[in-house]
Amino acid sequence: MASQIEVEALKQSFQEALESTRDIAALDVLEQEYFSRASGKLTLLMKGLGALTPDERKVHGQMLNALKNELFEELGNKRVMLEGKTMSDIAIAEAIDVTQPVEFPPGFGHMHPVTRARWDMEEVARSMGFLVEDGPELETDYYNFTAVNIPPTHPARDSMDTFYVKDHPHWVMRTHVSNMQVRLLKKYGAPIRAAYPGRCFRNEATDARHEHTFYQFETIVVDRQITFSDMVGVIKALLSGLFKKDVKVRFRPKFYPFVEPGVNGEMTCMLCDGRGCKVCKGTGWLEIFGAGLVHPHVLREGGLNPREWTGFAFGMGLSRLVMLKYGIEDTRLLQSGDMRFLEQF
Ligand SMILES: [Zn+2]
Repeated sequence: MASQIEVEALKQSFQEALESTRDIAALDVLEQEYFSRASGKLTLLMKGLGALTPDERKVHGQMLNALKNELFEELGNKRVMLEGKTMSDIAIAEAIDVTQPVEFPPGFGHMHPVTRARWDMEEVARSMGFLVEDGPELETDYYNFTAVNIPPTHPARDSMDTFYVKDHPHWVMRTHVSNMQVRLLKKYGAPIRAAYPGRCFRNEATDARHEHTFYQFETIVVDRQITFSDMVGVIKALLSGLFKKDVKVRFRPKFYPFVEPGVNGEMTCMLCDGRGCKVCKGTGWLEIFGAGLVHPHVLREGGLNPREWTGFAFGMGLSRLVMLKYGIEDTRLLQSGDMRFLEQF
């Protein structure tokens, strides 16, 4: 049976021999001398365990195993050192540089056509000095309706099939991005030029022309001498930026609660350049936006005096513009996540 003294002596002699080892060949010899399966010094000590009682075997077995692990680790470290490698060399060789740029395979992916159209229009808006703002999709009925002159009894509340939020009677999924008008007036005051594209929601039965989730692009400008002709210039610039060609616009009076006067806007059909086609139903014109001069009620809600300030606002269906730009016939495709559709852009 190996005594504690024998074990310590073996450990010491091993470590001294290891210390004086200068090359791999000598190290191999040392390894055989101690760990050889047939006659290694440590192996022989472990073989002696068989003659012990179970209790003794347990205690001595643990001691010898610990010794074996310790010596084996020292032997391994020495081998690494003699092979000219340190642990840090190995760490460097095996490391992954997470900051290295990744080369994506071709066709990895791209922005959604709605995002691209939004970016094109945002760029034009910024070039004209507009802020581009984002806003909440879950909104209070105040900002979505009351602030933009749609009080609780107003029929416009019913005409927009609103998603109300269960157990929160004053929260809605915004039905238009016009919820941003009074938010922005309160936040920045006047003068202001801002564009605010975003996602809106209506409880629609979906079909090729209707979707419960869609995108709008709206702008508001408030200053001291704002007129309709200012608005026409901005609308034409935005549409020309999106479609990459000059467009004409025309207006017809139409009621919207948050503007006075309000107009319904059309642009020349970019598919037939106004000659008439299937998409524009032969008229040469496409109805794409609602616009008008900001209603005094909205200015007051935003903390501005309507005698001092005037402004315009117009909103476009961004989803519809994207459909027109790319000739998409079913609006539901935009939200479908269908790769066969998305890969065409
Ligand atoms: Zn046309």
